[in-house]
Formats: sequence, C-alpha cells, structure tokens
Amino acid sequence: MSDIFPTFQTTLERIKLAVSNCGRTPGAVRLLAVSKKQPIDKIRQLHTQGQQAFGESYLQEALVKMAELSDLSIEWHFIGPIQSNKSRKIAEHFDWVQSVDSIKLLRRLSAQRPVGKPPLNILLQVNIDEEAQKRGIPAAETRVLAEQAMTFPGLKLRGLMAIPDPGNDPQGQRRSMEKMAGLFAGIQPLSEHIDTLSLGMSADIETAITAGSTMVRVGTALFGPRN
Ligand SMILES: *Cc1c(COP(=O)(O)O)cnc(C)c1O
Repeated sequence: MSDIFPTFQTTLERIKLAVSNCGRTPGAVRLLAVSKKQPIDKIRQLHTQGQQAFGESYLQEALVKMAELSDLSIEWHFIGPIQSNKSRKIAEHFDWVQSVDSIKLLRRLSAQRPVGKPPLNILLQVNIDEEAQKRGIPAAETRVLAEQAMTFPGLKLRGLMAIPDPGNDPQGQRRSMEKMAGLFAGIQPLSEHIDTLSLGMSADIETAITAGSTMVRVGTALFGPRN
C-alpha cells in the first residue's frame, strides 16, 4: 500500500523527526494536505492511506472536488483569499477556514453557517511580515480580533495561521515564526478550544515545528508540482 504514495510516508517521517528533535510530544503536529491544483484521484489515494484533512485555495475547484469525493469523510480546510461574495459557499461546505482576516468576514461566515452543522472552525490569518500584497491582519490586531471571533455563535476560534515571507533569510523566517508562536501563546488563555497554530509548508516544515507549529500545510512535497 505505502508505495502508492511514498511521499506521504516521507512527509510523515519528516514531521515525526522534527517533533522529536525539538523534544515536543509525539502527535503534537497535524498534517494538512494542500490539494489545490492537484487531481482528484490523488486526493482519493491519499485519503485511502489515512490522510483526513485537505486544504483548498480556490472555491470553484474545491466544490467540484467535494462533490466527486462526497463518499469520503474528508475534513476540508479553506486556506485561500476570500472575497465577500464567496463566503456563503465557504460557510456551507468547509469544516475549517484558515484565512479569516476581518470582522466583516467573521460576521458573514457565522451568519451563513447552516443551522444544524457544527460551528465553523476558524483560524485568523496574520500578515506577520507586513507584506503589502499579502492578506492577513497586522500582528498588533490579533488579540482584539480573537476576542471578537469568540462572540459569534456560528464559529469556533481554533487559533492562528500565517505565511511568512519566503524571501526572508532563514534566520528572518525563524524570527517571524517565533513571533507567531508568541501571538498564539498570547491568545490561548482566551479559550480551551484555541489549539492550532498553522505554520509551515513544504520547504519549512522543520523550522515551523521547532517554532511551535501544530499544523503544517504541505502541498508540493506530498503531491509534486501543481498543474
Ligand atoms: C499552496 C499553499 C500551501 C502549500 O504550499 P507548498 O509549498 O506546496 O507545500 C500552504 N499554505 C497555503 C496558504 C497555500 O496557499
């Protein structure tokens, strides 16, 4: 079975080794398989191997995949930029949204979450390196938005997400990740549900785990280059 998806084993090993190298508890870090621009049959194969959580960045593409894979119990995460007019479908179809960056979006997602579904799991996206073109709230606004996020009945605040500037040198990237860990520690006392720091992609799994990530979002290292 395992040679159908050798990169899955390799990625799980990378995570396990990084967790143990920095002395963290085994199982402290979850893997989100980022399947945007990847074929549906690969998602099915990876799910068969035991992977449950998948991340998508483009709504239309994700809806097609969800329909095709509706026989599987996949935990779907939305990780891309969100235009207001897309929020309803996202609230209806996803289990997690990692790219929430405004009070307006919190309000819409909560109101649009269907009655009868569990609250939508939310991560606030922080623009940790203050990049002009990148989405996310400034670090200084994290606490206030987290407090607001907890007041919405349709939502469950689970933590924070960031995409540090890949253009920074390794030391700068490490500093940004440590800053994220500090922000995360700062909001954790607000609720027992706040348990997720989504940090790290294919190239920086190890740095992110050392800094304190609890969820790495891995695309190319798992699936190969995107189409
Ligand atoms: C595409 C994407 C990833 C995965 O990146 P890889 O380098 O392919 O692992 C992770 N997080 C977000 C938000 C993404 O858009």
